[in-house]
Parts: sequence; structure tokens; C-alpha cells
Amino acid sequence: MALLPLNVTLLGYLIAAVCFIIALKGLSAPGTARRGNLIGAAGGVLAVLVTFLSYDLHHLGWILGAMVVGAALGVPAARRVAMTQMPQLVALFNGVGGAAAALVAGLELSGTGLSNTASSGAALVAAGAGAFTILVGAISFSGSCLTFGKLQELMATRPVTFPGGPYVFGVGLLAGVALAVLVVVDAWSDSSIHPLLLIVLALVALAVGVLFVLPVGGADVPIVISLLNAFTGLCVAASGYVLGNVLLLIGGTLVGASGTILTRLMAAAMGRSLSATLFGAFRQKAGGPTGPGEERPVRSGSPEDVAILLGYARKVIMVPGYGLAVAQAQHTIRELADLLEARGIEVLYAIHPVAGRMPGHMNVLLAEANVPYEVLKEMDAVNPEFSTADVALVVGANDVVNPAAKTTPGVPIYGMPILHVDAAQQVVFLKRSMRPGFAGIENELLYDPKTMLLFGDAKESLTKVVAGVKGL
Ligand code: NDP
Repeated sequence: MALLPLNVTLLGYLIAAVCFIIALKGLSAPGTARRGNLIGAAGGVLAVLVTFLSYDLHHLGWILGAMVVGAALGVPAARRVAMTQMPQLVALFNGVGGAAAALVAGLELSGTGLSNTASSGAALVAAGAGAFTILVGAISFSGSCLTFGKLQELMATRPVTFPGGPYVFGVGLLAGVALAVLVVVDAWSDSSIHPLLLIVLALVALAVGVLFVLPVGGADVPIVISLLNAFTGLCVAASGYVLGNVLLLIGGTLVGASGTILTRLMAAAMGRSLSATLFGAFRQKAGGPTGPGEERPVRSGSPEDVAILLGYARKVIMVPGYGLAVAQAQHTIRELADLLEARGIEVLYAIHPVAGRMPGHMNVLLAEANVPYEVLKEMDAVNPEFSTADVALVVGANDVVNPAAKTTPGVPIYGMPILHVDAAQQVVFLKRSMRPGFAGIENELLYDPKTMLLFGDAKESLTKVVAGVKGL
């Protein structure tokens, strides 16, 4: 039996919704992010409690059992995940959210949900919203699983295309929409929907999700995760309509809206339109260097060589990337910067918006090592500085400094704004091998006569360079 009267339920949901909005605001700045996260989580807990107390729930044992299993899987996964694997985790959680919304809508449509709705008009709208939820939720689920595979490097990170791919995708999408319309027609003709129709709709949508993400190149995966996140938000909002749950409607709309804004911001940061991100691979002619190319000479140096270059420079720009995060070398790079500053050298950090594997990755990493915000320069602010820098020290970054983005039409990152490290007097790369970055494209800058390579794990290399600078 429901314990709470309707107005108390709605008040509880309103407070939870306000918590979600405050959380989003808090998450927009590093200083308030942790508090924002906690407020959002508190809103979530309140929403669950209010729901338990407001409805006459059946199958309580199953519900609690599912919650225990979910928590047992989710909590350790979230605790143990390395910062570099966060996007994969987000992709998985997002996909599971889409799948949950699609399953709930499917059960609701194939059960008694429609006959309970007040009028036949409302029943049709509910059928439409339910079919939309299944279509978009299943696309989001399979698409998110594929982005997980790409990010975890369980499959090729480069765009996967095949002849006729765009047509197969187009036909699949049209079939999905047609099946969704059939669901509404079925509901209209006899107010019950054949479960087989819902299953076929879900299967077609799963295939569409796969076809949607396959042609996206590794470097564009973050944009797609954000877009799929927006999709999940929209289908959760639609499932809120089907279930008559106002909080799902609000929460889903917030996720949908913020995911859409983030998608646009990230696409702009990478200098490409959304359609170029999603369908660019189909238009690309083969071209541009990809993968490790033929053996060519490079100039490699010792930690002492790098220490001398840095120790006698006037201005050094540090360019952190994914490899810095993998090596957990944020404290060592800070130590090196402090040493150089003590020698009167100007030190800046160049932050590319998609360096690393999640938005803001480098800011979070360097904040951990207490690098002051003032010396972290965003891409547009720092690019003019490279021409006056003696050394650009690239630590575990590759795609975000790859000139192919400017010079080689046809490569997956073509058009992405990059950090202009090639304008510095000398460029030093700290990396372990000649392997390319996430987008799988060879970097011509590694072969430039003014580039020196120091091979090895970034932390070990930086530690040796620190020792070298101390010895000058
Ligand atoms: P890249 O993946 O392009 O390059 C990373 C470099 O780090 C590689 O050259 C690798 O070379 C080196 N590296 C890896 N581990 C180590 C280590 N332990 N020590 C030293 N070097 C190491 O990274 P960038 O930051 O330049 O670019 C980010 C890429 O990731 C972009 O393509 C972006 O689109 C994509 N991406 C970004 C997301 C985001 O939101 N920021 C999310 C998902 C993808 P080697 O193996 O030879 O050591």
C-alpha cells in the first residue's frame, strides 16, 4: 500500500529535480564538481525512496534483488576504474540506461499499460512514446557497447566501413521508424500490441546502433558517447511519459539537453560538424599516413640531452596528453616545471580540449598535482605562444599535436584544431615507441629535424630528466 499522498510524492520529486539541476551547475567547474556530484547522488537516493513509498509495488523481492546485483557490479567498477578508463565506464553506464528504458517501455507496452490510460488518444501517444523509447534506447545500448569496444581497444579504433554501408544504415533506420509506426497502428487497431513486433523493433534498433558507431573514427568517439548519452536522456524522458512518472521526464530531459549541448561543444572543439563526425568516414577517400609507416630515421636523445635543452631555455611549453595519464606522471611533470621555474624559465602548459580520454582530463590530472590554474592555457590562448617558445615538451600526446589534422585531407582527424607545437624552436616527444595515437595516424612531426624523441614510460623519462636538470 502506498504510504505517501500524491502531493508529498510530487514534492519529493520536485526536490530531487532541483538537486539534479544544482548538480549540473556544480559539475560545470572543477572547484564545485565534487559537491555537485554529491547533491545529484542525494537527489537520486531521494527519488528512489519516494518511489518506494509512493507506489503499491509488486515483485518487491525481484526489485530489491536487482538493486543489490546492480550495486554489487556498479560500485566496485566505479571505485576501481582508472581515470584513463572513465569514458569506457561512462559509455557502459549510458548503454545500460538506454537498455533499461527500452526494456521497461517494452514490458509496459506489451502488458496492461495502454488499457490503463485514460483515453484512446492518450493510449496512442503512450504507444508512440514507448516505441520511440525502444528504438532509441536499443540504438543507444548497442552503440554504447561498440564505443566501449573501441575505447577499450577490443576492436579497431579506426573507422570501419564497407561498400554500401550508408545505404544499409539508412534502410535499417527507416525499417526501425516504420516498425515504431506499426506499433502505434497496432495499438490503435486493438489497444494491445503484439510482443513479437516489439522484439523485432528492438533487434532492428540494436543493428542500427552498431551501424551508427562502426564508421566513427577513434578520435571522434568522445563526441559519439556524448550524443548517445543525449539519446538515452531522450528515451528516459519518453519512458517517463509512458509510465506517467514526472521525475523520469525531468531527469531524462536534463540528460538529453545537457548531452546535446556537450556534443555540440565537443564537435566545435574538434573543428568538425556533427555530420562530418558521424558520416565523414563514408566520404573519405583513402589517403594520409595511417598506422606505423615504413622505417625512417628519427632523432632520439638521452634524458641528459633533454635536460640540457630544457635547462638552458627561456620559455618551455609542456604539452600533456593521454600518455601522461597512463604513466601517472602528473606529479613528476610538476616537479620538472618547478625546477625550471626556479632557474628563471617561463613554463606554460598547453591544454587541448580532447587531450586524454575524457573532456577536462588534463585539467583534472594536473589539478591533482596542484599545478596552478593560471599556467594552464587553453588551446586558443596558447597557440600564439609556441612561436616564442624554445622547447615544446610533448608528454604522452600525439593526435592533439599531429599536423596531419591541418595538412592531410582524408585522415580521420582532418579539420580538428591542434596545438601548434611545430612552431616552437625545438620539439621533444616523450613516448614509448613509434606507435601512433588513438586515431591510428602516423605523426610526421616525429620525423622533423627539430624533433627529439626520448623513448620510455613518461614517468620514468621525466624522473631522469628531473635528475638531469638538477645536475646542470
Ligand atoms: P593519443 O592517444 O593521440 O596519444 C597518446 C600518446 O601517448 C601515444 O603516442 C603513446 O605512444 C603515448 N603513451 C601512452 N602511454 C604512455 C606512457 N606510459 N608513457 C609515455 N607515453 C605514453 O593522445 P592525445 O592526448 O594526444 O589525444 C587524445 C586522443 O583521444 C584524441 O584522438 C581524442 O579524440 C581521443 N579521445 C579523447 C577523449 C576526450 O574526451 N578527451 C575521449 C576518447 C578519445 P606510445 O604508445 O609510443 O607510448
